[in-house]
Amino acid sequence: MRRSRSAPGRAAGALIILALAVAAVGAGDDAPAAPQPPDLARVDDTAHVRTTDHFVVRGHNGPLVDLLASSAERTLARLGRRRLAAPAAAAPIEIIIHPTREAYGAAVGADLAGAEAHVAIRRADDGTLERTIHLVQRTDEGRFDDRLLGRILPHEIAHAVLEARFVKASAPLYLQEALAVAAEAGEHRTAILLAGLAVAEGRDLPLEDLVRRDEVEAEQAALFYAQSYSLVTYLRRQLTERQFKRFLDELAGGQPTFDALRRALRVGHDASFAARLQQAWRDDAVRQAALVAATEPAGRAASQPAQGG
Ligand SMILES: [Zn+2]
Repeated sequence: MRRSRSAPGRAAGALIILALAVAAVGAGDDAPAAPQPPDLARVDDTAHVRTTDHFVVRGHNGPLVDLLASSAERTLARLGRRRLAAPAAAAPIEIIIHPTREAYGAAVGADLAGAEAHVAIRRADDGTLERTIHLVQRTDEGRFDDRLLGRILPHEIAHAVLEARFVKASAPLYLQEALAVAAEAGEHRTAILLAGLAVAEGRDLPLEDLVRRDEVEAEQAALFYAQSYSLVTYLRRQLTERQFKRFLDELAGGQPTFDALRRALRVGHDASFAARLQQAWRDDAVRQAALVAATEPAGRAASQPAQGG
């Protein structure tokens, strides 16, 4: 639910920490329904390490370390095919699986102990990105957290990958979270429904507010994530692939969202641009939610919980 930086700006060595709120957008209604082998909750005394082309995975359960390593490589390949990924960075991404929330809290410090997972990003003096993803293996009930492979891992990898693309300016928070949510497995029904419902009920976050935020309170996190996902997927459908890439490039170059969008679309300054965009996007959010609801069995859509408070 939080995103914090321990040092401002992009100075070399600045430690950038992106806290996550995967659970904010829904508790796994769209997660893969694979049964969990029971031993993934086990914790050995041994520290297991598995190194792949792009990752170094550490944890206290050998099969889980192997599973995460191969899953991480597949996720990276999938993000690369979507052309959102930066070129493979020289430094491998480190993934640390903490056995419990307590162990996670003790390792990452009080500031992040409330998050479920996060990626810590450090830019070394020579410009190399050092990225470490911190995950928690077990739920508070001592079971394996079955959101880890389908949701939390791809979400954090998307953050780590996007960060490598934004060197000059930081990616806006809505973009980071939208692309991280998009990387998660499943159809994202909860996010689409939540965004559409908020618009229909007139309690959506205004566009200008959404695109300028660099922090979100816990109670607004679910809505922020859902609307961010809604906005970015709307833009991806409206823009050609080339225009969307240009949009990302303009953002990476430090342009604010509306200017980046106008440049990508090659339209001049227009005082009503943001208002018209907001109107079209809100209409689309309601339409998308109606489409999703229509493909649900009766009664189920209405009972979709809005997680995350
Ligand atoms: Zn996130």
